[in-house]
Amino acid sequence: MMSNSRMSSGRDEFEATHSFEQVKQMAVDKGISTVGSKREIINRIFRHEQEAARQAVLFPPKPPKPRNIEVEATYHVSDAVKKQTGFDWHEVKGIFVGGCVKRGVGSSFRAKAHAHCWTDDPYFGWICVRSAKRLGEVQGQEITKPSQLLWHEYAHILTPDHYHDDAWRRTMKVLGLPITEQYQKKKRPPPRTYRLACQSCGHTWTGTYSNTCPKCGKHMIVMTPWKS
Ligand SMILES: [Zn+2]
Ligand SMILES: [Zn+2]
Ligand SMILES: [Zn+2]
Repeated sequence: MMSNSRMSSGRDEFEATHSFEQVKQMAVDKGISTVGSKREIINRIFRHEQEAARQAVLFPPKPPKPRNIEVEATYHVSDAVKKQTGFDWHEVKGIFVGGCVKRGVGSSFRAKAHAHCWTDDPYFGWICVRSAKRLGEVQGQEITKPSQLLWHEYAHILTPDHYHDDAWRRTMKVLGLPITEQYQKKKRPPPRTYRLACQSCGHTWTGTYSNTCPKCGKHMIVMTPWKS
């Protein structure tokens, strides 16, 4: 027995100052078995702590890395493109490949790409692309011929706080980009028709909004919505 050892006196003191319930709870918190007597559990806790201390000396924890943008995953549009197209892409902080810049390489998202085009986003100005295959022509980390997808996302960056709306479509036009079917303005529903009646001549008809009677030319029209 080690009842006279320093280690044992530490355990004696611990046993004296902690209830069985406290000891068991401590074991549970540390993921240690609670089987056996109070002393047996205490022995287990002490062994666990000694091992943890030994590991900490052998393998000191690395200081947490500051959250930095993964450099290998970040692409830029080449100066040649900027010169050729007249759009200098300076509004784009970076083109992040293989995940979302917010969550790092390997993070997933649904579309092939997205732009951080909301000004309250700390990553405002970034474009994220799932796969490098979607970038267009690439040399190293430089994009020498951006894909249509990338231009689409660039239009988002140039139109902060808008999505696929008229403002974004105007930017697409300025960039000389075609707007594919799915991003075209949705056709308006057919204009509402009314049952119209002229209170002057009594003529009635069905049609869109009007304030003039087609028969007598007076402006005494009564309209009721016409449900078809
Ligand atoms: Zn992103
Ligand atoms: Zn879009
Ligand atoms: Zn009339």
